Amino acid sequence: PSEAGEDTPTGPADVRLEGIRKTFNEVVAVENVDLEIQQGEFFSLLGPSGSGKTTLLRVIAGFERPDSGLVHLRGVDVTNRPPYARDVNTVFQDYALFPHMTVGENVEYGLRVRGVARKERSERAASALDMVRLPGYGKRKPSQLSGGQRQRVALARAIVNRPEVLLLDEPLGALDLKLREEMQVELKRIQQEVGITFVYVTHDQEEALTMSDRLAVFNEGRIEQVASPAEVYERPATAFVAGFVGVSNLLERDGRRFTVRPEKIRILLDRDTADSGAHVESGHVQEVIYAGMITRYIVGLDAGGELVVVRQNLEATSAEAFRDK
Ligand code: ADP
Ligand code: MG
Repeated sequence: PSEAGEDTPTGPADVRLEGIRKTFNEVVAVENVDLEIQQGEFFSLLGPSGSGKTTLLRVIAGFERPDSGLVHLRGVDVTNRPPYARDVNTVFQDYALFPHMTVGENVEYGLRVRGVARKERSERAASALDMVRLPGYGKRKPSQLSGGQRQRVALARAIVNRPEVLLLDEPLGALDLKLREEMQVELKRIQQEVGITFVYVTHDQEEALTMSDRLAVFNEGRIEQVASPAEVYERPATAFVAGFVGVSNLLERDGRRFTVRPEKIRILLDRDTADSGAHVESGHVQEVIYAGMITRYIVGLDAGGELVVVRQNLEATSAEAFRDK
């Protein structure tokens, strides 16, 4: 029976978690997790280190058995099935390739274990290597590849099995920033091309906002919000989400607490130039931090509290930007 919403008419959710709890001795790693991930979704588990993301991924994969709760894949209860009997593949951060095998042999490995015939194996491996933009690399050894290329081989090794669901645990964590940003775009393209459901673990909020259709924000083993990137950013459900996803200013006025994003605040020299309807307060710029594309201002408010304000650097330098304050 389908419990999907009106806008998702295609059968049961790809992944459905119900009341998942997992402890390690006295440590509660994951608690009270209910989650539905739809077919073909790029879904991220976002949260700080130690918040339970990896544990939940391992519960989905079957490497961990939950203390309580159920795991459904495409409507089938797989809670008591071992990893190999679930139609999922996992890509870890330390994507250990077999060093003595060629790239092609690494990619084919899962197919060989499952007894797929040689011809089909090499065709599928070649097309998986095409997919990750490494055509013709099949004869190389992993040691002859860069870090980013090795990570793409790890990805090819997983998608060649055509799993229903691909689980990725901080797969770009070991790469430097520039390469990571390139790979984010690549991963998203691959996911859209193959149409596999991705469940993607990251502690990097920008990565989650960039790549996901929807995300779940974790805090201490619990999910605080599940929504689209724009929804999570513009309407954070809790103070934790507001603080973890992007910078936010927490203010208290008239006994009410609220958050304001730095880029939504304008600095004016003159109160009278404010847009009508804007809430205006007086304050003093305490610090100016030039960061290339933007300049960040720390402003102390006369009514109490402190704001981080971000302005795009339309002006040439921070010195000039500061001068007209
Ligand atoms: P994340 O992936 O979000 O960083 P984890 O799921 O790895 O978080 O860990 C969640 C919590 O569970 C942490 O407190 C961690 O120390 C604990 N934990 C995870 N795996 C084990 C384990 N095998 N044994 C004991 N504690 C564990
Ligand atoms: Mg982890």
